[in-house]
Amino acid sequence: MPAPQCASCHKARAALRRPRSGQALCTTCFCASFEAEVLHTVVAGRLLPPGAVVAVGASGGKDSTVLAHVLRELAPHLGISLHLVAVDEGIGGYRDAALAAVRRQAARWELPLTVVAYAELFGGWTMDAVARSTAGSGRSRSCCTFCGVLRRRALEEGARRVGATHVVTGHNADDMAETVLMNFLRGDAGRLARGGGLGSPGEGGALPRCRPLQLASQKEVVLYAHFRRLDYFSEECVYAPEAFRGHARDLLKLLEAARPSAVLDLVHSAERLALAPAARPPPPGACSRCGALASRALCQACALLDGLNRGRPRLAIGKGRRGLDEEGPPGRRGSHSRPDPPLRSPSPASRDSSSPLGSDDVGVRGRL
Ligand code: SF4
Ligand code: ZN
Repeated sequence: MPAPQCASCHKARAALRRPRSGQALCTTCFCASFEAEVLHTVVAGRLLPPGAVVAVGASGGKDSTVLAHVLRELAPHLGISLHLVAVDEGIGGYRDAALAAVRRQAARWELPLTVVAYAELFGGWTMDAVARSTAGSGRSRSCCTFCGVLRRRALEEGARRVGATHVVTGHNADDMAETVLMNFLRGDAGRLARGGGLGSPGEGGALPRCRPLQLASQKEVVLYAHFRRLDYFSEECVYAPEAFRGHARDLLKLLEAARPSAVLDLVHSAERLALAPAARPPPPGACSRCGALASRALCQACALLDGLNRGRPRLAIGKGRRGLDEEGPPGRRGSHSRPDPPLRSPSPASRDSSSPLGSDDVGVRGRL
C-alpha cells in the first residue's frame, strides 16, 4: 500500500507518523515542524535573548548533536551566537570516540569548540579513576551521580572560558520524565519541586541554563537526526549499565505503552509541584572551599572530591543528608588516600547542584 500524502504540504508522500500526534508527514515537513517547535520553546520561554553567546554542551551523542544543529539553523532568527563546549570525563574507550564526533561536527558546521577535562579541573581525577576508587565501596554503582555533579561544574567552567552568557543542554522529554520518576523513587521532594521548568535562570551569578529540546520526544530526536543525516556517536558509556536511570527508563517504557502521554505528563507534573514550607531546604550559602552556592559547608563537587581524596567516596544526592553525614571523623583516611588538591577554576558563580536554585544536570542524565 502506498504511503499516505503528507498531512501538511499535501504534495509529498509521508515518511513517518509523528509518535505523539499520529500525523503523517514527509521528511521536509517533519524537520520544519521539529525546528519550529524548538523555536517556539525558546521564544515562548524567553530562554535565549538576542545577543546571547550560547555554550552548547556537546557530547557527540544524538541529543546534543540535534540541539546544536537546530540552534545553528535558528541562530539567525534568534540573533544568538553558538560555541560548542565538550567535557572530557576521562573514560577510556568511550569519550575519545565521542569527542572525535564533536570535532567533526564543529568543523562541518564551522562552530568554535572548547574541550574541558575533568583531569585538568579536578586535581587529576578522571571518571575512570573515580570508578576504580569507588569499586567495591558500595558507591561503585553511582558513577553517573559522581559524573553528573562534576560535569555540571565542568560545563559551567567551559562556558565561562568562552565568554558564554547562557548554557544549553540536549535533554529531551524522555530524559526529563526519567528524572521525575527517579526523584519520585528516591523520595527526593526537593529535586522534584525544583526540577520543573525549562531550565534555571541563573541565580547567584551562575550562567542561565536551559533545555530547548525538553518538550521533544526521544523518538523524534532520533528521527530528526536520521532525516538530517547527522553524524553522531551512539555507543553507550561503559558505566551507563550500572546507572539507576536504567530502571526509570524501563518503567517509563511500560508506562508509555499503556498511556502514550505519560512522558509529557511527567514532565509537566514537575512544573506543578511545590514544596510544603516545612520541607523546604534552608537558603543556600557559599561553599567554604570554592565559593559556589552550597546548601551545606561544601558544595557537592567539593564534597565529592573531598571524599575521593580521602579515600571515602560519598554522595550527597537524595532525600536525606546522609551523604555528607556519612563521612567519618576528620583524619580517617582510606587506602585510596592522596593529598587534597585544590578544586581548580572554582568560579564563585558556579552553582552547587544541591542548591535549591537549580539541579538540572544532577540526576538528570549522565551526559551533556
Ligand atoms: Fe558519566 Fe554519562 Fe558515563 Fe554516567 S553514562 S559515567 S554520566 S559519561
Ligand atoms: Zn565548592
